Amino acid sequence: MSEEKEIIPCLILGSGPAGYTAAIYAARAGLNPVMITGAEPGGQLMITNDVENYPGYPDGIMGPQMMEDFKKQAERFGTEVRFGMGTAVDFSQRPFKIEVDGTKTVYAETLIISTGASAKWLGLESEQRLNGKGVSACAVCDGFFYRNQEVAIVGGGDTACEEATYLSKICSRVHMFVRSDQMRASQIMQDRVLKNSKIQVYWNTETDEILGDDVVEGVRIKNRISEETEEIPVTGFFVAIGHKPNTDIFKGKLAMDEAGYLMTKADSTATEIPGVFAAGDVQDAIYRQAVTAAGTGCMAALEAERFLAAQEAHAEAETKA
Ligand code: NDP
Repeated sequence: MSEEKEIIPCLILGSGPAGYTAAIYAARAGLNPVMITGAEPGGQLMITNDVENYPGYPDGIMGPQMMEDFKKQAERFGTEVRFGMGTAVDFSQRPFKIEVDGTKTVYAETLIISTGASAKWLGLESEQRLNGKGVSACAVCDGFFYRNQEVAIVGGGDTACEEATYLSKICSRVHMFVRSDQMRASQIMQDRVLKNSKIQVYWNTETDEILGDDVVEGVRIKNRISEETEEIPVTGFFVAIGHKPNTDIFKGKLAMDEAGYLMTKADSTATEIPGVFAAGDVQDAIYRQAVTAAGTGCMAALEAERFLAAQEAHAEAETKA
């Protein structure tokens, strides 16, 4: 069966602040961008409550509302937003060949990768089995279900501190497990947790098992020094141990650091393949903010536009020669 080849001037993978900002700029530049949303449309801000540090919102804004606004703005200028997942890429040919949802193929003259990062899990069998049945990686999304109940949270970074504080406003008690004798979180966030009488911090503590057959009923923890175990009854178990960049489909195709973040050229979003750009958390292990992601999304679109213009000029010169 012959299939019509769809060639897209500017394809954007991922729909967080980086992707949408790239889309707004690319659409306004007349590149007719197509965005493939990824499995979590809107990205990490969809699981964020108040965003108070994005300039232009003096009273703050809810993450999902902000992403809805980004989407509307991108669509207003002609971005086509498609729900789906980029499942394979082939950069050995131009236009690049991109497989979507394992079944469809599109071709892209330029590609902007803004696939972001996803929550990390502990890797316990019980964690997987009870996911969605008391186990969650998003306190802001799921905390409400545990109103006036006891919950646990794992992690010692800013996310864990922020989520523990958030949960303490909803739940009767928050048990927080930190695997070493110190937290990685900023001092202000740690202080907020340590001063909160509803949060109990367990140092040098790892999660041995999440308990319960069909729903979370408790957790067994182990002190890493004394090796003593303890069972604590909780109905919710939150994992807040960091994120992993969504770059699996680019392994062996684009340069990445040991954590999997895509490498880009200095002061640029260009990868080592001309026409392929990376923006947002997928290439930023340091700042990871919505506003920095949006900034690099803008850069990627401007660079894609220049790349296409240079190609067009080159093709014209060849025709005349
Ligand atoms: P981080 O990587 O900063 O912290 C991860 C935490 O999880 C660490 O305490 C780490 O412990 C712990 N951890 C990792 N793996 C395991 C495991 N298998 N078992 C138990 N604990 C584990 O991730 P965050 O998501 O907290 O933060 C990411 C970035 O986002 C940071 O730069 C942070 O500052 C920023 N951020 C800022 C916020 C704000 O300013 N409002 C809010 C949220 C995040 P260990 O230290 O021992 O490795």
